[in-house]
Amino acid sequence: ILYTGGTFGMVPENPNDLKSNLVPGTLVDLGKYMPALEENGYFAKHGVEIEYLSLGEPKDSSNFTPKDWVIIAKKIEQEYNNYDSFILIQGTDTMAYTASALSFMFTGLAKPIIVTGSQLPISHPRTDAISNLTNSIYIAAHKSFGLRSINEVLICFNDDLLRGNRATKYSTNDLEGFESPNFPGLASLEERITINEKYLVHREEEKFELNPTMDDQVIVVQLFPGYSPKYLEDIINNTDVKGIVFRTFGAGNYSMDKEFLKVMDMAREKEILMLNTTQCYQGSVHYGKYKTNQGMEACGVLNGKDLTLEASITKMMWCLANLSYSESRQMLATSICGEMTN
Ligand code: ASP
Repeated sequence: ILYTGGTFGMVPENPNDLKSNLVPGTLVDLGKYMPALEENGYFAKHGVEIEYLSLGEPKDSSNFTPKDWVIIAKKIEQEYNNYDSFILIQGTDTMAYTASALSFMFTGLAKPIIVTGSQLPISHPRTDAISNLTNSIYIAAHKSFGLRSINEVLICFNDDLLRGNRATKYSTNDLEGFESPNFPGLASLEERITINEKYLVHREEEKFELNPTMDDQVIVVQLFPGYSPKYLEDIINNTDVKGIVFRTFGAGNYSMDKEFLKVMDMAREKEILMLNTTQCYQGSVHYGKYKTNQGMEACGVLNGKDLTLEASITKMMWCLANLSYSESRQMLATSICGEMTN
């Protein structure tokens, strides 16, 4: 279990004022809150051996940058042969970004990496931290509980087990903090745990490898009626941006405005990677459905289909850092590790 911070271990900034801001806390003794983790506790009795490690100063995940993903990925790579599974505790705010980034950085995963956290601190009487971590441990300790190993980067939250690069933070306060709007959950965590085998990805034949570099020269452009292309033109001409994730209407539609398309053409000439994703919470970009997505398609904007925003950004960052322009275009049009419906 790698602990990085988040609400899971947070404490009030002023210990005498329980209503003061929550700030990251050092969570030294997990067993104090979870007797199941103690030396002779429930998990030990089931033959589960757990090691717990705090990875640097605990942080609010809103302060995460790609550097944090690299630190996490490298730690997992370094310890890969020493453990059957890895659980990462982090804040929920950027959890889906971390999970997506890790899914692209690793190839040939033959072990689960489970990312979890909570909406209420572990010290709170109504906390969801204990059940979220307990569920994660069940998935991680699959051998002890007669479950199959899910060799993917996962998010385990509020009785849901989601593919990390399909998940998105859905609510700031609901204990059901995450959803996977375009792909089924990978397990039902009811009274019994049932794995949805047919939805798992199988990449074990690939060699285990980590390519942790990410290029942050990426922006997101959320389009709206009346969007003025002059701002985009300015960014294209006066910054070093290398990738743009567009958030379009419905099935990937946007106005056929000539000025806008001229700017898109400029971007293509500069070999800026462009991806069309929908603003809709659920569903997919569908080229060829409406005339209003032909303009973007003709300007070389790739079809992001049903990618989440988190997966779009991190996949683009990963492609830019590891592949050429044409390889990146190919990779962005294909599902690498179950992030998109082909
Ligand atoms: N701001 C917190 C974080 O992402 C929220 C959470 O953990 O739920 O670290």
